[in-house]
Amino acid sequence: MPLLVMKFGGTSVADLDRIRNAAAKVKAEVDRGYDVIVIVSAMSGKTNELVGWVNETSPLYDAREYDAVVSSGENVTAGLMALTLQEMDVPARSWQGWQVPIQTTSAHSAARFVDIPRANLDMKFAEGFKVAVIAGFQGVSPEGRITTLGRGGSDTTAVAFAAAFGAERCDIYTDVDGIYTTDPRITSKARKLDKISFEEMLELASLGAKVLQTRSVELAMRYKVRLRVLSSFDETDEQSGTLVCDEDEIMESKVVSGVAYSREEAKLTLVTVEDRPGIAAAIFGPLADSGVNVDMIVQNISEKAQGSDKPVTDMTFSCPVDQVARARKALEAARDAGHINYDTLEVDEDAAKVSVVGIGMRSHAGVAARMFRALAADGVNIKVIATSEIKISVLIDRKYMELAVQALHDAFELDKAG
Ligand code: ADP
Ligand code: ASP
Ligand code: MG
Repeated sequence: MPLLVMKFGGTSVADLDRIRNAAAKVKAEVDRGYDVIVIVSAMSGKTNELVGWVNETSPLYDAREYDAVVSSGENVTAGLMALTLQEMDVPARSWQGWQVPIQTTSAHSAARFVDIPRANLDMKFAEGFKVAVIAGFQGVSPEGRITTLGRGGSDTTAVAFAAAFGAERCDIYTDVDGIYTTDPRITSKARKLDKISFEEMLELASLGAKVLQTRSVELAMRYKVRLRVLSSFDETDEQSGTLVCDEDEIMESKVVSGVAYSREEAKLTLVTVEDRPGIAAAIFGPLADSGVNVDMIVQNISEKAQGSDKPVTDMTFSCPVDQVARARKALEAARDAGHINYDTLEVDEDAAKVSVVGIGMRSHAGVAARMFRALAADGVNIKVIATSEIKISVLIDRKYMELAVQALHDAFELDKAG
């Protein structure tokens, strides 16, 4: 029997009516002859509420208990989706991660898939069940504890099941009708793309475009999963939405194909750090061990410390705002242990990152200059810059974020197909 994976995000299962609407889309595929694996997210807002409860109870929480709490939202929707399908006479059964069992690493709140054994689901399909509803975002560690995959992780659950079960396609149903040149909530000029390459989507996702979780794109690229994003609210057919695919399937030839942003960034500067071999490792090792995701890094020019000829420098880096407390604690502990030394730690919690992405950058010069000119014309000051082969990112004041996205969208004429 051909098999499809259909994933419904939080807004698509936000209440019982929407679950019914999603279930009707599943039933339509079953009527077309497919077995279906449905992946559900928690009802919209639920995971944020659960995360809030954890933070209020224990700000530097034990990640195992964080996962125990925040994974629960998906359990509710999985059961409700199975019940809704049963009410529509579709034989369906729900599964929590550990029941499959979805085996992951023990990296709590950022776990990775190890294996998805097929036997249990295959047996149910063989018994005549047409739909397996899986609670997204969760799995079980080798120690037998519940894990979660990081925010937005249900997308990755969907792609992993599509790969494990050889699905014909992995359809990600969400509250937009495809992948756009930038978040359509930021500018009405955002243009829907029919196709986007894995590489570009990977960059956009990792730079903040939360329409797909980064890891889901990585897995789709590795296992050659046909990955599609489409609306759960519109009528849809085989042509709807945006297909994420190989570069050579794409006709567009723009240098920049999208703009992404990440709103909640912080910039931290260690002022007057000893400049010696091993200092970067001594700073960033403890940060990594504490689970801080350091992004951009700039080391300033070295100078002599006052009254001494020992070279000193300032070290600046960025990380998500909600990791600042952890970062501060890790750095202070490293200083107390005598591993690093610094005068002060300056923290700017009002930053945001804006990035332009495009595979065309590999062969075109001048993208950075055009980007910086566009930002300058709108008076946006750049705090930190980072580049790679197909992206340029800048850290700026959060209050200019929307303006910067719009300016860059205009500067690279992303509203026009090309
Ligand atoms: P779900 O709950 O279905 O997983 P998400 O909120 O995680 O949905 O992702 C969908 C949202 O991603 C959209 O509502 C949109 O605001 C945002 N988004 C950001 N960048 C893009 C983009 N380039 N194209 C489409 N949507 C985007
Ligand atoms: N419910 C989880 C989250 O909000 C997972 C997901 O929706 O993909 O992050
Ligand atoms: Mg999502």
